[in-house]
Amino acid sequence: MTLKKLTDQNLDKNLKELVSGEREILAEIIFHIIEVECRKLYLKFGYASLFEYLTQHIGYANGSAQRRIDAARLAIVVPKVVGDLESGNLNLSQVSLLQKSIRAVQSDSKTKVDQKTKEDLVDLLSNKSFAESEVVVAQVLDITPMESTKVTNQRDESVRLEVTLSKSQWEKLLKMRELLSNTIPAGSNWGQVLEGAADKVIMLKDKTKENQRTSAKSTRHTIFKNQDTQSNEGRAKPPKPARQHIPISLQRKVFQRDQCCQYMDKVTGRKCESRWHLQIDHIQPVWANGTNTMENLRLLCAGHNQQIYRWQSNITKHH
Ligand SMILES: [Zn+2]
Repeated sequence: MTLKKLTDQNLDKNLKELVSGEREILAEIIFHIIEVECRKLYLKFGYASLFEYLTQHIGYANGSAQRRIDAARLAIVVPKVVGDLESGNLNLSQVSLLQKSIRAVQSDSKTKVDQKTKEDLVDLLSNKSFAESEVVVAQVLDITPMESTKVTNQRDESVRLEVTLSKSQWEKLLKMRELLSNTIPAGSNWGQVLEGAADKVIMLKDKTKENQRTSAKSTRHTIFKNQDTQSNEGRAKPPKPARQHIPISLQRKVFQRDQCCQYMDKVTGRKCESRWHLQIDHIQPVWANGTNTMENLRLLCAGHNQQIYRWQSNITKHH
């Protein structure tokens, strides 16, 4: 190998040059990710989120994708982050730590971290080690550093989940275990408690399961049918054409048929298939005389539902 013939000085010099080039490319990548986010390009290409796009389409490992998304999101608010990444004053781990901590503070205490604090933090972390950065971020944002959730897939396909909970979160879990005590065996471990809670949520929320259960019991099915007729007849005012009520029985059929987001990128044929935040969409919009029929209804994830609405309103605006 030619590298073997390099002098120590040249090996060191080459590596420094390569790393500097790597940082330049990283800065370009962050700019590109910001633009992808602005255009919501991942939705167009059939991915439910920027994370899915970067992992499944671009090929980043989960952690690498998340750190770059964190950097892009922080750079949208504090643009000098990109320059600091390029010069090496900051690295991706620090930027990701900062963005994660800001997000945690904002979602936990519902207080907004102001622009000045964000900019100050970016400056404070400059040329610090990761450990020093953790201390600075915890002090400025007044948080106790929380271990991030760790999911480990084990060889028998079981999963080890390590979570750090706040005091109030832990108290809620204990309360939940208490409430579940009559439906789970005494002395259940946390895996069984969580399973019991999951069963309850699935029973309450899973519309496809609900459908299977109701169609299995013909009496229940009749009750639902009656309710639908009643609710349509019982209305004092005729329903507005823009917000026409989709009968619950029809909603269930759509959930059972589709099961996941039906958005497809017409160019690549990639289908989103996300099962997150599913909503029923009219393929031909109601304002364009679209009707409540199985053929005109489909499931979309929230991201695709909103984006399709934006595309449609752009089309009408330009006409
Ligand atoms: Zn989708």
